[in-house]
Amino acid sequence: MYNAKAYSAVSATSPLASDTIARRDPTEHDVQIEILFCGICHSDLHSVRDEWSDFMSTTYPIVPGHEIVGRVTQVGSAVTQFKSGDLVGVGCMVDSDGHCPNCKAGFEQFCQNAIFTYNSPDKHKTAPVTYGGYSNSIVVDQRFVLRVPPNLDLAGVAPLLCAGITTYSPLRHWGVTEGKKVGVVGLGGLGHMGVKLAHAMGAHVVVFTTSPDKKEDALRLGADEVVVSHNADEMQKHAGSFDFILDTVAAKHDINAYLNLLRLDGNITLVGAPEKPLDVAAFSLIMGRRSLSGSMIGGIAETQEMLDFCGEHNITADVEVIPIQKVNEAYERLLKSDVKYRFVIDLASLKSE
Ligand code: NAP
Ligand code: ZN
Repeated sequence: MYNAKAYSAVSATSPLASDTIARRDPTEHDVQIEILFCGICHSDLHSVRDEWSDFMSTTYPIVPGHEIVGRVTQVGSAVTQFKSGDLVGVGCMVDSDGHCPNCKAGFEQFCQNAIFTYNSPDKHKTAPVTYGGYSNSIVVDQRFVLRVPPNLDLAGVAPLLCAGITTYSPLRHWGVTEGKKVGVVGLGGLGHMGVKLAHAMGAHVVVFTTSPDKKEDALRLGADEVVVSHNADEMQKHAGSFDFILDTVAAKHDINAYLNLLRLDGNITLVGAPEKPLDVAAFSLIMGRRSLSGSMIGGIAETQEMLDFCGEHNITADVEVIPIQKVNEAYERLLKSDVKYRFVIDLASLKSE
C-alpha cells in the first residue's frame, strides 16, 4: 500500500477537504495511474450529500470523482494493453464479476457485482470503500482502463468518461441518426455532451433549458433550436413531434410536459437522477404509445467506442478547469445551474496540499 493525496468529505454536511488515503500496490492485472484531470459530475454532489440514500447510501469518508484522465506510472506483470507513460481514462466503474450475462453482453454497468469508482465495497480491502478521482493517483484493473484518443485536449476528455458515455449510450440505443428529431433537456454537463453527440450523429437537436442566457451557447454547441421550458407557447409548438428526448435534469421537474412532445412510439430516456421521484401521468404515456425509460452510463467496450467516436469527430467537453481548492465553490455553482459546461479539476493543484 502507498499513500495518495485526495479531497474527501467526512459527512453529508461537511465540505470537501484535503486528506491522505491508502491505495493498493498494483497487482499483476492492475494499472497505476497518475491522475491529471478529473471532471466534477452532479452525481459526485448527490453522493457527497447522501441525496440518494433511499437507493444507495454514502459511506464516509467519500472521495468522489469518476471522470478521470491520467498517465500510466506502473503496470502489473499480466498487463498487456498498457505501458508506463500511456495517457488513459477511467470512468464510473473499476470492476465487475466478468462472467454474468450482463458482463458477457458488454453491459458491465448492470452487473450485480459491479464495483463503482467510489463508494463501492473495496474487494481489495485497501479501504472500506473505493475512492475516486479527486486524488493524485489511482490503481485500476486493466479491463476498466480506457485508451484516450491522442488528438483531443486532455482536460476536455475527462468528462467524456461519464457525461460522454451516459449520453452516447442511450442516443445509440434509441437509434438516433440523421433525420431524427431529438430533444435534450437541461444544458449542464450531461446535456451539453448530449447536444454535441446527437448533432454529430446527424439529428435535428432541440435544447430545452430553464436558463434563457444559455440560448446562444446551445446553438454554438450544435443545437438547431432552443426552447425555454417555462414558456408554454414555445413548448406547445413542438407537441407530438419528437422521436427521442434525453432528460438530463438533476432536480425534480414536470416530465409530463416533455412526454407530451413525443410522437407516436417516441421515447424519453431519463439519465438525470433527481433525489425525489417524478410524477408521471398515465395519459402522457397512453396517448401515442409513448415510453419512458432510463439509462446508466455504458459498458466498457461502448465507452471505448464513444471515445474513438469523439476522437474522429474532434469532440471534447467545454470545460472550466479549476484547482481542487475551488471544489466546494464549484458544487454551489452546480446547484445554481451555473456551469459552462463542466468543471474539471487540475490535480496538479493537489501538490500544494
Ligand atoms: P449539471 O451539470 O448540474 O446539469 C443539470 C442541468 O439540469 C442544469 O444545468 C440545468 O440546465 C438543469 N436543471 C437543474 N435544475 C433544474 C430544475 N429544477 N428544473 C429544470 N432543469 C433543471 O448536472 P450533470 O452532471 O449533467 O448531471 C445531471 C444529472 O444526471 C444528475 O442527476 C446526475 O446525478 C445524473 N447522472 C446520471 C448518470 C447516469 O448514468 N444515468 C450519469 C451521470 C450523471 P438548464 O440551465 O439548461 O435548465
Ligand atoms: Zn457522473
